[in-house]
Amino acid sequence: MLARLINAPGSLVHRSCVASGRLPGMADQDDPQGQSRPTEPSDPKPALPSGRCHWCGYSLVGLADRGNCPECGKSYSPKTAARLQPWPSALKICVRLGWPIAGLIFAGFILATAGNNGEAWVLGLIIGCAMVGAVGFNSYLQVRSMLRRSLPEGIRTKGPVAIWRAIGTTICVIIILVSVGPFVFFIGCLMLLSQPVTH
Ligand SMILES: [Zn+2]
Repeated sequence: MLARLINAPGSLVHRSCVASGRLPGMADQDDPQGQSRPTEPSDPKPALPSGRCHWCGYSLVGLADRGNCPECGKSYSPKTAARLQPWPSALKICVRLGWPIAGLIFAGFILATAGNNGEAWVLGLIIGCAMVGAVGFNSYLQVRSMLRRSLPEGIRTKGPVAIWRAIGTTICVIIILVSVGPFVFFIGCLMLLSQPVTH
């Protein structure tokens, strides 16, 4: 077990052996020809070109590619350091949150021009209900993914952000229930109406 740990790629012993050109476990000997090899300078630890602590958001640029955050002490790796991304632009946020609203406007347009066309009314109502549901569902998913991508975990799970997340989630659930309720009722009515009437 210990030998495996020592010889594991990336371990300190493994790295120092790779740097000096020896295999782990090989005795420290001079060359058989009696010429000792010139000692190479050991590799400096790779430094992170970018990245932030996933817990507190502290910039890790220039630090070793893994270790403990100098700010909060949590351990980091290249993977966790690359997790936090800059907050999306206003345009991206509008597109990500706004498409169900565009759908609602479309449904409104269908209803406004439906006139006496019953099928157009049904289509407009179905799209309208689905889009109201999508406002809640999509907003929840998009905000969740944006917070995960851009907000350090220590900030995301504590204090005012956590409270606002809970409030936002509740609003989204209410919107989904309000929109899905009539939708289910509407489908139920359609199914009842489509059944052949027996006398
Ligand atoms: Zn940190």
